[in-house]
Amino acid sequence: MAANVSEKEARQVAEAARESEWKLPSFGKELYLGNLRLDLIHPQPKLDPAKVEKGEAFLTKLRTFLENEVDPLEIEREAKIPDSVVDGLKKLGAMGMKVPEQYGGLGLSQVYYNKALALVGSSHSSLSTLLSAHQSIGLAEPLLGFGSEEQKQKWLPKVATDHISAFLLTEPDVGSDPARLGTKAVPTEDGTGYRISGRKLWATNGAIADVVIVMAKVPKGDGNRGGISAFILEYDTEGVTVENRNAFMGLRGIENSVTLLEDVFIPKENLIGREGDGLKIALTTLNTGRLALPAICVGVSKYATKVAREWSVERVQWGVPVGKHDAVAQKIAFIAATSFGLEAMLDVSSRLADDKKSDIRIEAAIAKLYASEMGWKVVDELMQIRGGRGYETAESLKARGEKPIPTEQLMRDMRINRIFEGSTEIMHLLIAREALDKHLEVAGDIIEGDGSIQEKAKLIPGAAKFYASYVPTLLYGEGRKPGSFEEFGPLADHIRYVERSSRKLARTTMMAMGRWQAGLEKKQTRLGRLVDAGAELFAIASACTYALTIAKENPERADQARELADLFSKHARRRADDLFSAVWANDDDASYKLAQDVLEGRHTWIEEGIVDPAGGDDRPQVRDEQPDKSVSAG
Ligand SMILES: Cc1cc2nc3c(=O)[nH]c(=O)nc-3n(C[C@H](O)[C@H](O)[C@H](O)COP(=O)(O)OP(=O)(O)OC[C@H]3O[C@@H](n4cnc5c(N)ncnc54)[C@H](O)[C@@H]3O)c2cc1C
Repeated sequence: MAANVSEKEARQVAEAARESEWKLPSFGKELYLGNLRLDLIHPQPKLDPAKVEKGEAFLTKLRTFLENEVDPLEIEREAKIPDSVVDGLKKLGAMGMKVPEQYGGLGLSQVYYNKALALVGSSHSSLSTLLSAHQSIGLAEPLLGFGSEEQKQKWLPKVATDHISAFLLTEPDVGSDPARLGTKAVPTEDGTGYRISGRKLWATNGAIADVVIVMAKVPKGDGNRGGISAFILEYDTEGVTVENRNAFMGLRGIENSVTLLEDVFIPKENLIGREGDGLKIALTTLNTGRLALPAICVGVSKYATKVAREWSVERVQWGVPVGKHDAVAQKIAFIAATSFGLEAMLDVSSRLADDKKSDIRIEAAIAKLYASEMGWKVVDELMQIRGGRGYETAESLKARGEKPIPTEQLMRDMRINRIFEGSTEIMHLLIAREALDKHLEVAGDIIEGDGSIQEKAKLIPGAAKFYASYVPTLLYGEGRKPGSFEEFGPLADHIRYVERSSRKLARTTMMAMGRWQAGLEKKQTRLGRLVDAGAELFAIASACTYALTIAKENPERADQARELADLFSKHARRRADDLFSAVWANDDDASYKLAQDVLEGRHTWIEEGIVDPAGGDDRPQVRDEQPDKSVSAG
C-alpha cells in the first residue's frame, strides 16, 4: 500500500477493503493485541464434500496434463511457455478455476484453487505465475468483487476459458507507492468514457494479454469524483503498444511487458466500481489474491522435500549417505518441517477464506510474507544439500546423463516472491499498521495528532479508560496454566507458548509505542521484528491446528503430522524468541547512521579496486529507447 499517504488515509483505505460478509474478527489481529482467539481457527472449518470431489477430479486431470504435456526444460530453454501448453491449460478450464460455474468457470474453492497452483508451480513456476496473475489479480477477481452484473456476464466467460488477462498498476516511477500513480484517465467531454495515457511496467501476462485491468488516476473535476480508478481495457484498442517483453533472473517463461498507453479510449461501461475506488479494489482483490503466492511456495517446498530426501539417501560421501551427516540432516528436517508449516498456514487461511465469516486480511498478508521468506530459505538449504549439482542447470545435468533436477531454477524463480505483490518491507508496514490499529484508534490523536496540547489533554481520559481495562488482560492467561489446551495433546505446550507470547507481543508493542511514540513508524526494523514474531506465532498455531485436522480427516497420518508440527513449532519458537530479544538489543541506530554516511559518500573509498560491469559514471551509457523486440498489442 501507499507509503506516503497519511496514517489516517491508509487506515481508511485498509478499512474499505473489509468485506461486508465478514462477521468475525481476524485471528491474526487479535494475536497482535495479546488475545489468542483460537476459536477463530480451531477446529478448522470442514471442507464441503461436493467441492472436495470437484477439486480432486480437477487435480487429477491437471496432474496428468502436467506430467504428459509439459516439458519444464523446454520452458527454460526457449524462455517461453509453448502455445500448446497455454491452449491445454485453457481446455482444462485452468484459466477459470475460481470463476463460478454460472459464468463459465470451474468454481473451485479457495482451498482447491491453491492446491492447483501448488501443483502447477511444482512443474514450473512460470505456469503458476501465468495462472495466478490472470486469476488472482487479473480481471476475474476484481470483477467478482466489484463488477456490475453486465461486466461479469460479458467478461467472466471469456477470461474463464480463453482470454488472458493482466493487472497493470506498476509504472517506471511508481512501485511500492501506488498512490502517486502517473497514468491519467481524463473523462471525455461527451461523457462517453475516458482517454488514458501513461506507461505501465512489469505487467505479468501483459505481453500476450487479451484484456487487462489498468489503474489510472482520474483528475477531480466538475461533477466527477476523480481519484485512482480501475478500468477494463481491451488490449487491441488503438493506442496500446507493448514496448518490451521483459526478461528476469527467473520465471523465464512469463510474458511480462512494458505497455505504453497513448490517448487510449475506454468506454465508461468499463470503469469497475466508481471513480476513486481503484486502491480499494486493488486491496480487496489482494485479500484472497495474496494466498496465491504462498500456494506456489508450498508447491516448491514440497518438491524440495522430495529432492532432499531422495538425494540425501542416494548420495554417499565419507562412506555414508549424506543424510546421515548431522549438518545435512538438520537441513532435511528444516525443509520437511517448514513445508508442513507453510502448508498449515495456507490451509488455515484458505479454509477461512472459503468460510467467508472472518476478516482474513492479516492472515493472507502474513501468509504471503512468511511463505516467501521461508520458501527462499528452503530452496537455499536444498541447494546446499545438492552441492555442486544444485548449482548446475537441469539441462546440463541431463546432458551428462543425470536426473534434470532444477534446483538453481527453483532458487531463481523463488526469489521474486519476496518482492512482488507487496515486498517484504511493505508487508511489514502493512501488517504493523493493522497490529497497531487499535492503539492508533484509541491514542493515535494524542501521540501524533495535529491538535493543541489542550485538545490532546481532552482525549486522555478516553484512552486511559481503554488501557485501564486492557493492560490487566495482558498480564495473565491460559498459557500460564500447565494443563490448558489439553485437546492438543503433546502439542499443547506450543499453544500455551503462543498464548503467553501473544500477550508478550502486545506488551512489547505498547512499550515500543510508549518509548518512540510517533517516531515508532520510522523504526521499521523494530516494527518488522514485532510483525515477524507475530507471524511465527500464527505459524505455530496453524501447524498445531492443522495437525489435529489431519488426525481427524486422515487418521493414518495423525502421528506423522504431529511430529512435523512439533518440530516446526520448536523451530518457530526459537525464531520468535530471537526476534523478541532483538527488539531491544540491536544495532539498528548505528546501522541507520552508517547507511546515511554511505549514502552521503563518506565510505566510497571502500568501493576502490573494482570495475563496474554496468558501466561507471565515466563510461558512455547505451540506452536503447526503442528496443527491437517492440510488438504492438493488437
Ligand atoms: C517479475 C515481476 C512481475 C511483476 N508483475 C506485476 C504485475 O503483474 N502488475 C504490476 O502492476 N506490477 C508487477 N510487478 C511490479 C512489482 O509489484 C513491484 O516490483 C513491487 O511492487 C516493488 O516495486 P519496485 O520494484 O518499484 O520497488 P520500489 O518500490 O522502488 O522499492 C525498492 C526497495 O525499497 C523498499 N521500499 C519501498 N518503499 C519502502 C518503504 N516505505 N519502507 C521501507 N522500504 C521500502 C522496497 O521493499 C524495495 O526493497 C512485477 C515485478 C516483477 C519483477
